[in-house]
Amino acid sequence: MRLERITWPQAEAYFKEHDTVIVPIGSTECHGRHMPLGTDTLIPNRILDVLEPKTDALIAPTMPYGCTDYLSVYPGTISLGYDVTYQVMHAIVEGLRSHGARRFVILNGHGGNNAVIERLELELQKEGCIAVPINWWTLVWDLTGDWEGRRPWHGGHGGAEETAAVMAIDKDLVDYSEIADSPLKELSPDLPFSSINTIRFKDVNLPIRRYLKDVSDNGWFGDDHPKYATAEWGEELISAAADYMADFIEVLKKVPLE
Ligand SMILES: [Zn+2]
Repeated sequence: MRLERITWPQAEAYFKEHDTVIVPIGSTECHGRHMPLGTDTLIPNRILDVLEPKTDALIAPTMPYGCTDYLSVYPGTISLGYDVTYQVMHAIVEGLRSHGARRFVILNGHGGNNAVIERLELELQKEGCIAVPINWWTLVWDLTGDWEGRRPWHGGHGGAEETAAVMAIDKDLVDYSEIADSPLKELSPDLPFSSINTIRFKDVNLPIRRYLKDVSDNGWFGDDHPKYATAEWGEELISAAADYMADFIEVLKKVPLE
């Protein structure tokens, strides 16, 4: 049940009997030269389309912007920054809480939102509520088994995992002519980047946060090259995430709250 599709009396009736809500957040940002800017919003929305008939939990509208400052120089990327993302999400969960929500599943499409979500989790706990984030792209690492023998793998940003999920939504959203390698740059000849937020020195990875243009020209990164993506695998990822969430919500409903 989608909040934007019901009336206020229906919402009132829902909160008389239920206290669980799904709050989705995505982002509008560069995902490599081949992927749409709305990737992190489109994928959670598709998971929710599949989940909706499997759960009675109320689904709030998906927030299409988030905190993505390190990608902000790529054309089309819009970051609300940490403070505004927090304020918006805080207002959304407080609004839902004022109507009776106490159990929040925060379906997240973008890692840059994690710090905001963690803050909300603790604030909601103080109010006698519970919030659990579900980062769909890490969830499916464990759910979808051996992916053509390429395990272990962890899907990156704009890599095969996200590309597959977007292909499952609409194959025409991917610009296949732009799929290419995305080599990492170096801070200096002695300090190569080992990921988008680490440099390597004496076999140790040191965390460092730089604008992504310093690290990659293309804008995708990760160990899962997008050339391996298939729509079939994307469908598997999306339905695995939806099934897991449906089961998880039933268990979350039974968590005792003060
Ligand atoms: Zn993404």
